[in-house]
Amino acid sequence: RKNLWWLSTGSKNLDSILGGGLESQSVIEFAGPYGSGKTQIAHQACVNLQCPERIIADEKLKEEILDNPKAVYIDTEGTFRPERIIEMAEAIGLDGKEVLKNIKVARAYNSDMQMLYAEKVEELIQKGENIRLVIVDSLTSTFRTEYTGRGKLAERQQKLGRHMATLNKLADLYNCVVLVTNQVAARPDAIFGPAEQAIGGHIVGHAATFRVFLKKTKGDKRLARLYDSPYLPDAETTFRITEKGVHD
Ligand code: ADP
Ligand code: MG
Repeated sequence: RKNLWWLSTGSKNLDSILGGGLESQSVIEFAGPYGSGKTQIAHQACVNLQCPERIIADEKLKEEILDNPKAVYIDTEGTFRPERIIEMAEAIGLDGKEVLKNIKVARAYNSDMQMLYAEKVEELIQKGENIRLVIVDSLTSTFRTEYTGRGKLAERQQKLGRHMATLNKLADLYNCVVLVTNQVAARPDAIFGPAEQAIGGHIVGHAATFRVFLKKTKGDKRLARLYDSPYLPDAETTFRITEKGVHD
C-alpha cells in the first residue's frame, strides 16, 4: 500500500504496539468493557489530527493531510463531549474551539442512521472536505439493541458486514484512518477474553485491520493488547488516561 501515514494515539506505548500509531487505509477497532477508555481514545484522535507533531507521514503527504484536516465522529451512544475535546486540546497547546470546528459530529440513533452517515462521508470528501479520520463510537451498540436473539443474528452480521465494507472503502480510497469502538463484557476471570466474545466477533474481526483490547487497571492506568493483526505480533502495553488525555 502506498502513501501510508500514522496518527498518534497520544501514547508512545500504544503507538508502538500498533506499528507507529493509528494506520491510514485501515480500520482499527478498540474493544473493551465500559469505562476502559474507548471513547477517550476516539476523542484524543480527533485532537491529535490537528497537531502536526502527531502525524507521521512523509513531507509531501503530511502537507496534504494538514490542509485543514477534518474528523467525522459518528456517535451512537451520545457520549461525544465537546468540553473534553477542549480540555485535551488545551493540554497540548492547541486552541480548543478551533479543534472543535474541525470535528463533524453526527449523532446516530439507530443502525440505519449510522450506516447512512458512514456512506455520506464519501460525499463530503468529494465536495472537497479533507476528511482524514472517521470514528464510529460505538460500532456495535445499535446493532446489538436492534437485532436481538439467535433468529436475528444472520441479519445483524450481514448488515454489520456491509457497514464495515463501507468503512474499509473509505479508509482505502481516501487514505483515512478509521477508528471504531466495540464494547465487550468485562471478564473477571481473564485479563482479556477471546476475540469472539466481542459483539459481532467474526465479521468485525475479519474486517478490522487492527484490533486492540483495552482494560482498566489501577487508577488511571490502562492495559492494551493488540490482537490478531495480519502482520504484527500480538503485543501488550500500558498507557494512561488523565485530565490531559491519553498518554504514557
Ligand atoms: P468507554 O470504553 O466506555 O468508552 P471512556 O472512554 O468513556 O470508556 O472512559 C471513561 C473513563 O475515562 C473514565 O472512567 C475516566 O477514568 C477517564 N476519563 C474520562 N474523562 C476524564 C477526565 N476529564 N479526566 C480524567 N479521566 C477521565
Ligand atoms: Mg464509550
